[in-house]
Amino acid sequence: MKATWSGFLRIGLVTIPVKLYPAVVKRAISFHLIHKDCGSRIKYLKFCPRCNKTLDDDEIVRAYFLDKDHYVVITDEELASLKLATSDTIEVKYFVDEREIAPIYYADAHYLLPEGEGGKEAFAIFYKAMQEKGKAALGQAIIRQREYPLLIKPYEGKFLASSLHFYQDVIRAEDLKVEIDEEKLDPRYLQLAGQLIDSLTEHFKPEELVDHYAEAVLKLVEAKARGEKFELKAAEEKAKVISLMEALKASLEKAEKKAA
Ligand SMILES: [Zn+2]
Repeated sequence: MKATWSGFLRIGLVTIPVKLYPAVVKRAISFHLIHKDCGSRIKYLKFCPRCNKTLDDDEIVRAYFLDKDHYVVITDEELASLKLATSDTIEVKYFVDEREIAPIYYADAHYLLPEGEGGKEAFAIFYKAMQEKGKAALGQAIIRQREYPLLIKPYEGKFLASSLHFYQDVIRAEDLKVEIDEEKLDPRYLQLAGQLIDSLTEHFKPEELVDHYAEAVLKLVEAKARGEKFELKAAEEKAKVISLMEALKASLEKAEKKAA
């Protein structure tokens, strides 16, 4: 597997050569845009509306938008010279109890492995020590021109390095208002809901979670490639509106029947 980043993990004065590997693949069904009449893939031209002409790549520069009339041109050299100390080093700032980090902060997952013989011992020592203490390491790294906080923790013989969202990028839950008056909740409903949760509780089986929509799209593509006609399905009828009590009771009966 190809590493996405290579550099150093620094914990205090201990420097470990490491590589980051993706822990998650992003599969997405994507379509190409083609010319309806001839089936050829379309091409986007880079066009300047003021000069009314198509531009070549060497006529285009990168600029940061300030306001309508103000763009600041930024060159690749200038960006490269901004490389901070973190560009090849993940500096561990502190250790933290992983349970303190709300799930909303987690972004992408990577594996962090020691690189070469030199770093193996220090890697193994911190792996074991962090496991024993139940602590994760918080650091920061620049990966592909973007800076990320990284939360590093022992996981199946490797470190799992989760990139985290920045505090200012996370929308605070209190900004979205939901008013619930707990006093007014009917205890009978709560009891039924609790029973329903119990009878529908299972162990987490990630292998059973499948992307039904992607499967359906691929089936459609295969059928059409074989020249079959695809029947458009009518939208399903909406469920009848029933009271919360009726809905809870019926759900519970269904769940218990399934379990029996
Ligand atoms: Zn064409």
